[in-house]
Amino acid sequence: MPNTKFIPHTDLRHIVNQHIQYLKGVGPKRSEILERLGIHTIRNMLYYFPRDYKDHTKIQKISEAKIGAKITIQGTVCGIHTRVSRNRMHILEVFVTDGTGTIAATWFNQPFLTNKFHMDDIVFLYGKVGAYQYLQLVSPEYEIIREKEDTHTREGAIIPVYTLNEYISQTQFRRIMEEAIHQFADSLDEILPEELIERNQLVPINTAVRDIHFPKTFEHLKNARYKLIYDELFILEIAMALKKRSIKEETGISFRVGPNVDIHIRKLIPFTLTRAQERVIYEIKEDMRNSKPMNRLLQGDVGSGKTIVAIYAILAAIANGYQTAFMAPTEILAEQHFQTVRKYLNHSSVQIRLLTRETCSQQKKTDLELIRNGDVDLVIGTHALIEETVQFKKLGLAVIDEQHKFGVVQRLKLKEKGSYPDVLIMTATPIPRTLSLTVFGDLDISILDEVPPGRSPIKTLWILNGKERDAYNLMRSEVAKGRQIFIVYPLVEKSDILNLKAAVIEAKRLQKEIFPDLRIGLLHGQMKSAEKEKTMVDFKEKQYDILVSTIIVEVGIDIPNATVMVIEHAERFGLAQLHQLRGRIGRGSDQSYCLLFGYPKTHISRERLKIMTQTCDGFRIAEMDFQLRGPGEFFGTRQHGLPELRIANLIKDFPILEKARKDAFEIISLDPHLTSCHHLKIRKEILETFTDRLELIHIG
Ligand code: ADP
Ligand code: MG
Repeated sequence: MPNTKFIPHTDLRHIVNQHIQYLKGVGPKRSEILERLGIHTIRNMLYYFPRDYKDHTKIQKISEAKIGAKITIQGTVCGIHTRVSRNRMHILEVFVTDGTGTIAATWFNQPFLTNKFHMDDIVFLYGKVGAYQYLQLVSPEYEIIREKEDTHTREGAIIPVYTLNEYISQTQFRRIMEEAIHQFADSLDEILPEELIERNQLVPINTAVRDIHFPKTFEHLKNARYKLIYDELFILEIAMALKKRSIKEETGISFRVGPNVDIHIRKLIPFTLTRAQERVIYEIKEDMRNSKPMNRLLQGDVGSGKTIVAIYAILAAIANGYQTAFMAPTEILAEQHFQTVRKYLNHSSVQIRLLTRETCSQQKKTDLELIRNGDVDLVIGTHALIEETVQFKKLGLAVIDEQHKFGVVQRLKLKEKGSYPDVLIMTATPIPRTLSLTVFGDLDISILDEVPPGRSPIKTLWILNGKERDAYNLMRSEVAKGRQIFIVYPLVEKSDILNLKAAVIEAKRLQKEIFPDLRIGLLHGQMKSAEKEKTMVDFKEKQYDILVSTIIVEVGIDIPNATVMVIEHAERFGLAQLHQLRGRIGRGSDQSYCLLFGYPKTHISRERLKIMTQTCDGFRIAEMDFQLRGPGEFFGTRQHGLPELRIANLIKDFPILEKARKDAFEIISLDPHLTSCHHLKIRKEILETFTDRLELIHIG
């Protein structure tokens, strides 16, 4: 063990950051194997936590074995026999003694097991007791706890199980881990200030790391887990607090949004705002008045009326002489926002431009020029907005619709087009509280929890195999009432592997076999933008009764006359997606129907479809979706910017998250730049953990 006494305290970190090869018993070959597991430093090793534990605390004596009962024993290998029976079966018998008796563990036709066992290995066996000529366990669960040459004695009987590859055994890995802990656990740095450790009754970091690997009791294990989870979430929340703080420290624009502006804007709104809309507009106005840049997330279920709230903010900014940007995730949505805004503003002098990848180059050139000169007040567009060629003279407000489709980076890029503009992010995916404290932990949140009046709830039916006729009849009767129907498919072209019904083929089949008398339109992602647009417009103008499409109708499209949403292969869609799709209908006052055609194979996918038929509450659905799929899947990709969590589980450990968050925010409010000597280690940890996200953190 290195003598740590004479090393200044700050150097301890350096010791555990040494390459794994400096660990006793780890040569070049072993270290290569460990590196494949992502273990490069000694610190990595110590933080390579078990995925499971084997409870050997209830070990029984062989002398107490009862024939027919299950038994857990631990003992030493005292004989290994193999033979081939008369009917050509390979039989392996490993004799184990624990001092009170001997028992044979027997395996049939598994000759490869023979090499696993050696005389004097200490093994753990679990199985049902039988008797042949002697006591026997047939094909028991087994584990080799200590190989013969292993001289360490192990205390305790809770054995860690790691996620490993085929090049290293559990026993070998455990031995290296023991060595690492023995030599280096005490060199781990405590990042938390004393006060937090006491307040939360946390065990010290060295104890926690020791006990997470080799706990003496389950109580020890629990405390170790708690401490490590707390640490992990604490650092995450420190990062959130820093982000939020750094935004607050910026000086942005202080807009004037007085009664004059307000009256002027309201004149343009053709309906009475809901109470929720009023409340959110109030919150936004407060932010806009403030010289700190707004950084607000507006959550509202589909159809809750987010667009008009955004338009309010946009007009307020324009009234102050600033330019505004409105970014949508798809061309169709950008186009739709453009049309909506134009409708509201057709008698005003506000200059609006639509900017997408499709905008023709000559037009684009002029538009970009106008934007640069400050002659355009509002630019609506897709990702095209964040391209370098787009330069604003005076960007005051950026609105981003459907945030989860964009990464954090895009959010930042749009923001950088101005000098600390206000930012309003809108999402129709309700975000579980766990995530609003983590992924979106730096944003202020507004919620539209009320739908505009005059809508009736949507009936959702799960159409079972063989009941398709009933569904078709319902669709037909809706069309007879003058209503329109969406049918959504997961894929465009027929896929041989998945054998999914593909939109193109199905549109033809429906037309030919089921609805020869109805007008069916087709919309899919591989169509040219102009074609798509024409189809959408035609559908809106009731040129079609049915619109068959792929997932691109997912977001935002507003067709109040559509009362039926049919989703094929509903089991293929995420819950949030299904909910989004369903939100496309039910916008008028008539009864609407969502018909789920689904052939779920797993329990989870059945559960998901069931949830859809039970609730229309987007928050409940999001919470369930998140629980079923976890945060990565929930967002579709890993673009949510969360670091990989090693031990904490955002759902199960929510109470710890809340505590850690409170503590973290308190620290940052007292010491925003982490310069106090009590916080230097936190600072260091943050800089190491979030190296690629430093620009978001501003403490570097
Ligand atoms: P989303 O939140 O899904 O973006 P939209 O902003 O598209 O919802 O609004 C859905 C529909 O409701 C639109 O047709 C919009 O004109 C209408 N709407 C919004 N607010 C109100 C209101 N307060 N009263 C009546 N209709 C409203
Ligand atoms: Mg919308």
